[in-house]
Amino acid sequence: MISKNVPFFNYGFLFGSSEAGFLEVVTDVGRRGAFILQKDLTDFEQHLAEFVGARRALGVGNATDGLHFAVRAAGIGPGDEVILSSHTMIATAAAVHFAGAAVIPVDCGTDHLIDPNAVEAAITPRTRAIVPTQLNGRTCDMDALGAIARKHGLVIIEDAAQALGSRFKGQCAGTFGIAAAISFYPAKVLGCLGDGGAAITNDDAIYERIYQLRDHGRSTNGAIASWGLNSRLDNLQAALLDFQLKKFAKVVDRRRALARHYTERLKDVAEIVLPPAPDSDPDHFDIYQNYEIEVERRNELKEYLLKNGIGTLIQWGGQAVHQLKALGFTQDLPKTDLLFQRMLMLPMNMALSDEDLEYVCDTIRAFYGYRR
Ligand SMILES: *Cc1c(COP(=O)(O)O)cnc(C)c1O
Repeated sequence: MISKNVPFFNYGFLFGSSEAGFLEVVTDVGRRGAFILQKDLTDFEQHLAEFVGARRALGVGNATDGLHFAVRAAGIGPGDEVILSSHTMIATAAAVHFAGAAVIPVDCGTDHLIDPNAVEAAITPRTRAIVPTQLNGRTCDMDALGAIARKHGLVIIEDAAQALGSRFKGQCAGTFGIAAAISFYPAKVLGCLGDGGAAITNDDAIYERIYQLRDHGRSTNGAIASWGLNSRLDNLQAALLDFQLKKFAKVVDRRRALARHYTERLKDVAEIVLPPAPDSDPDHFDIYQNYEIEVERRNELKEYLLKNGIGTLIQWGGQAVHQLKALGFTQDLPKTDLLFQRMLMLPMNMALSDEDLEYVCDTIRAFYGYRR
């Protein structure tokens, strides 16, 4: 086997892959001096809303802020409880915490997404919202979560940070609840050259409230109408994102092709549980932000791959939200605990060539004693 170097993620690749195009955007925006809340931002917001099929999108500093603003805009605060998956970034929980509400992490199911049964079991008279994370580029069973929300009078706010373009029954992640957040962190499917995010909503009142929260309380008519903060998506980042959004369908195609390729090469390895393959379930259209597998002897495999030049990652540094004792969580979530001993993310990005993927799969097969 020839040795190769396959990093988990290559942060320089995106810029290098369209350097001339990116520089043209920077030059154009720079010469116009169009830096804060300019037309490139409103254009991108409109294109993003159109892309996901929502009425409104609002550029914000990052998805964490977008989610926090969504929670605040929904009127959630002290005395309220909000249910989310323990298998999510701490950012999801922080967005709720800083609104003053209690964070209630629950178990996920075999698809690594929040388990609707666990959600229902965690509901109390104080529960106000469910914040499902559309994890790894897959959208949760929104029929089941929607039914629970209706039955108990709860709102849904989606953490769609990882799920731009992901669909459940043809409907895009980010459009199921009263609001959602998407991240443009560089390693996300649509990444910018720094931090960035968007809030998405179909609700005009929520839109107005988030509009104010992100820009010093300034309302759409220009007057200061409430207390606000400063978390605007830079106009330059918006222009760079708009430039990339035009080619985003190709990104999704490529990621789905890589996922298909992983399935073909690894499906016979009994020690591995793969994510659902593209088109394996007609209800789901996955965009593969991550390719998160479950494996036996996870830490040994990770070490072996590293020795062979292959980077992998255990999501969230290997700790689920409820495991963060420093933050005061006391829940006991055995399914999530077990998953966190088994899960591993393989390289899944636009820099990954077919040959790289073959090498990753050959190396995994060798580790478990399978023929190439
Ligand atoms: C990346 C991510 C976030 C945070 O996004 P930022 O734009 O970095 O604030 C939140 N939730 C999930 C699930 C994420 O993957």
